[in-house]
Amino acid sequence: MAKAYVALDYGHGENTFNDHDSKGVRRAGKNYEEHHFNADVGEKVRKILEEHNVKVLVTQPPYKRDVGLDHRTNLANRKNVDLLVSIHANAGDPSASGACVFAWKGYSGSNKLADAVVREFKAKGIALHGSGRHYSQEGSWTNFHMLRETAMTAILIEHGFMTNARDFENIFGKNSKEYRQKCAEADAKAILSYLGVEYKGDKPAEVKRLRGAKRYEGKRLNVIYNGKKGVDFYSKATWDDAFKVGAATEGFAEVLGLLEVDGKKMYKVRGVSGEVHCITAHEKFVELADKKDEGDYNMANTGFRDVEKESNLQKQITEAKDLGITEGYPDGTFRPDNHVTRAEAVTFALNAYKQALKDK
Ligand SMILES: [Zn+2]
Repeated sequence: MAKAYVALDYGHGENTFNDHDSKGVRRAGKNYEEHHFNADVGEKVRKILEEHNVKVLVTQPPYKRDVGLDHRTNLANRKNVDLLVSIHANAGDPSASGACVFAWKGYSGSNKLADAVVREFKAKGIALHGSGRHYSQEGSWTNFHMLRETAMTAILIEHGFMTNARDFENIFGKNSKEYRQKCAEADAKAILSYLGVEYKGDKPAEVKRLRGAKRYEGKRLNVIYNGKKGVDFYSKATWDDAFKVGAATEGFAEVLGLLEVDGKKMYKVRGVSGEVHCITAHEKFVELADKKDEGDYNMANTGFRDVEKESNLQKQITEAKDLGITEGYPDGTFRPDNHVTRAEAVTFALNAYKQALKDK
């Protein structure tokens, strides 16, 4: 199959606001130009499409003088692109708000693409203007050149109103970084779904197994960060929040390897019940302990190498040792899961009886 070919049209040239005093807003003495928003969203869409092996033609390039509308549609028609998307932000009454998509009435391909954009806007929680869908037609203000003169599927997207206080914060204000990314992903996903190209989502993390990783294997990992929330761990080697499994406050039984994930180090670890996770290897948050050291640690705290502090019967077992009822095995273990022989039971009872007599 030939590579899909998409035309992106970044609304207006960067001189439009200065030369014609339109396509932008002034707020508190500052200028906010529509072209800057269109170009930013457009370039993000282009990047996603190209990552999906889609060829892109830009009919109004970013941060360049305004290209005439005839020139833009002639170019797209001549290049025989599969579809064209014109990217804008709206202006109007301060009460008007929300994003919407225009497609020429009766053009089924264009309306199918417009429906896909609205679907993606809804999925991302982008507020809509009315139903989010408007038809373009002659004899009305919706008679847009970019939709009338294009020979292929074409839509025009207004990503909210620059003139509305809430939308302004999304387009230019404090939410703009997140909002522009959302808009670009929604536009790109809709285009890809129209083209029948599977959306790959966020780029997978780059994972490298580090040299010398063997040195870390088989050790216990302790979480040493004492913050209330613990240290996040993940179901796979990624820093992506979508794969966050929980916050570790203690540690993991065994380190399986040391990885470099997107340039930062992570340990692959196994928990006590066998589940495998990934967690930061930053020494500010975690430290390795030899399995041997763990035994020493237990010995110091509970009196037995194989009885962990805070384990179910730790208090009773430690007390029994302190009282001289049991010494455990010569290797310092208690072997809490072993059965007791009749001889051992008699010894325990006798020891307890002797201690009781001593106390009198
Ligand atoms: Zn515009």
